[in-house]
Amino acid sequence: MAAKQLQSIRGIHDGLPSEVRLWQRVEQAARNTFARYAFSEVRLPVLEPTELFVRSIGEATDIVSKEMYAFTDQGNDSICLRPEGTAGSVRAYLQGGLTRAGVQRWFYIGPMFRRERPQKGRLRQFQQIGVEMFGAHGPLEDAEVLAMAHGFLSELGIAGLHLEINSLGCAACRPAYRDALVAYLNQRTESLCGTCNDRLDKNPMRILDCKNANCQSELSGAPEMVDSLCDDCETHFSGLKAGLSALDVPYRINARIVRGLDYYNRTAFEIVTDQLGSQGTVLAGGRYDGLVSELGGPPTSAIGFAAGLERLGMLLADQADPEEAVSLVDIAMVALGESTLIYSMQQAAKLRAAGFRVVHGGGGSAKRQFKVADREGARFVVVIGEDEMQSGRLTLKTMASGEQQQLDMEELIQLIHQAS
Ligand code: ATP
Ligand code: MG
Repeated sequence: MAAKQLQSIRGIHDGLPSEVRLWQRVEQAARNTFARYAFSEVRLPVLEPTELFVRSIGEATDIVSKEMYAFTDQGNDSICLRPEGTAGSVRAYLQGGLTRAGVQRWFYIGPMFRRERPQKGRLRQFQQIGVEMFGAHGPLEDAEVLAMAHGFLSELGIAGLHLEINSLGCAACRPAYRDALVAYLNQRTESLCGTCNDRLDKNPMRILDCKNANCQSELSGAPEMVDSLCDDCETHFSGLKAGLSALDVPYRINARIVRGLDYYNRTAFEIVTDQLGSQGTVLAGGRYDGLVSELGGPPTSAIGFAAGLERLGMLLADQADPEEAVSLVDIAMVALGESTLIYSMQQAAKLRAAGFRVVHGGGGSAKRQFKVADREGARFVVVIGEDEMQSGRLTLKTMASGEQQQLDMEELIQLIHQAS
């Protein structure tokens, strides 16, 4: 009886080569863009104390109340797999003693874990490219960070993405708005979904971005935070809009953006596509001036965002032209006869040292090795038989034209360089 094959955990996917290639394009665009804004990479732990997220994200959120992979380890410590990157960044910023080291501009790339209901573009382990900037005081910093997010996705060339912004107000103006929203929603409890009825007590602003269509239509006449901003928040929001316009970054205002996490204030934003259904948010973030002090540090203004790597990869895959599939192999070696195997491996090593991407057919019949070359998409084949080994002149076949010629190693390297 065949042994039972094990499967990965539901909602947790493998990144196989074709998908990872897409992710790497996204990562490269991020690295290029972020470097131009002088952001530095940090690599932070995947395991964190559970309390970090309870204190920062808040118990009333979906993430903390039901989505965390939290457990007690062998030492009786309560730890969890990070569901997001901001709280850990703040912890590291404080633990690293960086509060007096000037503005910190960070980015990270790595896996996050949330026990959500798996769907297309919604996984239980997913990857985020995130950015955090500590010591970012004013609306112009916000505009630059949003311009950077926009620049990053523009570099990928994905069509149909929109930047949407909102203001969440602050401790001075949000409570009154929240009361007005609750009063509005209290008259519509019957039409709201069960989750939103729960949110009404605990986290009413979260109702604004409920994915349920009924809830959304009930919200059509709801009061909007942007109409209830205090003077300081109004000035900040105007400054952001002016900054974006000055930098030619197109945006629209979306009063439904709230962000799921309690620690955001003022600027909140998303970059959305209409391609992925209710998983259409590819990048999201905002300002979180209260979080650093919440976690024991000095008052520190900050802003950040995170983009979902899998969702961006899906958009890239959708728009990829199959005709222009990139070749990953320059040269395939075809060795004819046992006696040429070692020699052909040595020639492959020389070609690799010259910078080419080389696969070795592994010997056997010429037919089989040419098949390998084809499957790998090699642009050239180098054929080595007894004669080639004796004379040192190798047979080069150009796959596109079928042309064959005999060349020594130096000529061959030159020719392929010129063809590239
Ligand atoms: P959504 O509204 O789609 O649930 P979110 O508000 O929970 O997103 P954030 O916590 O701000 O999202 O995360 C930033 C980005 O990370 C999202 O815009 C999305 O691209 C990605 N992301 C979030 N959760 C998941 C998930 N479960 N699977 C895949 N990507 C995700
Ligand atoms: Mg979510």
